[in-house]
Amino acid sequence: MSLSFFMPSKVIGGDEAVIKNSFIFSSLGKKAIIITGKSSAEKSGALNDVKVALDRENIEYTVYNKINENPLLSLCFEAGKTAYDFSADFMIGIGGGSVLDATKAAAIFADNPNFSQDDIYTRKIPAKHLKTVLIGTTSGTGSEVSSVSVMTHDKTGVKKSISGPDCYADYVFADDRYTFSMPYNTTVSTALDALAHITEGFFSPKMTESEMLFANEGIPMLVSALKEINETKALPNENLRRKLYTASLYAGMVLNTCGTGFPHPLGYVLTEYKGIPHGKACTYFYEFFLSRAKEFEREKFDKFIRLTKIKEDELIRIVNELTDIKVCFTDEEKERIKKRFTSNPPRNFQNSPGGFSVEDILNNNLYK
Ligand code: NAP
Ligand code: FE
Repeated sequence: MSLSFFMPSKVIGGDEAVIKNSFIFSSLGKKAIIITGKSSAEKSGALNDVKVALDRENIEYTVYNKINENPLLSLCFEAGKTAYDFSADFMIGIGGGSVLDATKAAAIFADNPNFSQDDIYTRKIPAKHLKTVLIGTTSGTGSEVSSVSVMTHDKTGVKKSISGPDCYADYVFADDRYTFSMPYNTTVSTALDALAHITEGFFSPKMTESEMLFANEGIPMLVSALKEINETKALPNENLRRKLYTASLYAGMVLNTCGTGFPHPLGYVLTEYKGIPHGKACTYFYEFFLSRAKEFEREKFDKFIRLTKIKEDELIRIVNELTDIKVCFTDEEKERIKKRFTSNPPRNFQNSPGGFSVEDILNNNLYK
């Protein structure tokens, strides 16, 4: 029997989870900092619910609302410093993966005021960190249930992740109604990200029977939802949105143990160079990833396709149609990408079916 399972955050799901469980905030302290992006916390209704809950518990709070997409390290640092200056007892991150990831890093900066920005990458793990509550508003990253935080380094523009037990939230409020305000493009891209997590994790050598339980449920949920979105080209109804959010958490559980394969670091380049949203940037390589899975992990591949409940061709067509991006790289950009992956091959390469190397990128002309 192979089992590997660790996810220590307490997840409380359901409509009005925040308001109904306001006492949890009281257990964390008297002063809170709320971390958000520009507008999603408000649009989703989550910020209002949190304010109601904090007022009810007589908790003083301040809001830091500058987190951007693919969050800059400097803003995570600034959020941490703001928390320190405010003497916050705990943090509440409300938003998509960008804000949730930023909150994890800010919680470390807040409790280590002597840290420079780059110390977050070299910290002794686990580092001290402020207690955190995460409230997701997208159905993609599963950051709520993972020990991963991805930030963009200001100087290099490169996306780089940190992970460790100090990156888990203490509490997660999973109220899927907060995803209802996502626009179509964000809904599609984040759902594709969840599919990328559950697919790349499925073929990781770290996959065990415990993650397989989440994959068994999550794969058919995600694929049927994506099929319906692709057929209608319309915003999903509320039931479908709820299903997508649950599936994104299942995919996050798979990611948390299994990690991701080569499409993730390759996708980071598409986001950095061409501004492609994260989910689509990863599924740009989906067809190629599946072809490697078929070649090197045939038995697992057959099981995966059975779980999707559709044929391989149809799956690839749906993912490609929803991904729908065209990019063009200059020779100079290709040279920089080659250097980057040669000098510092991501661990994700070995976590992919058949392994993966910079030669595979070049031989298959993956950056056209
Ligand atoms: P995001 O970057 O958090 O958000 C994308 C956009 O959607 C933002 O403009 C955001 O607005 C808006 N938005 C979010 N929720 C909304 C809602 N309910 N209603 C209306 N607008 C909404 O997107 P994401 O795909 O969730 O996160 C991507 C980031 O997560 C990337 O940096 C990626 O590398 C990282 N990631 C992390 C993990 C992990 O395990 N930790 C895994 C995969 C990816 P605001 O700017 O106003 O918030
Ligand atoms: Fe991802």
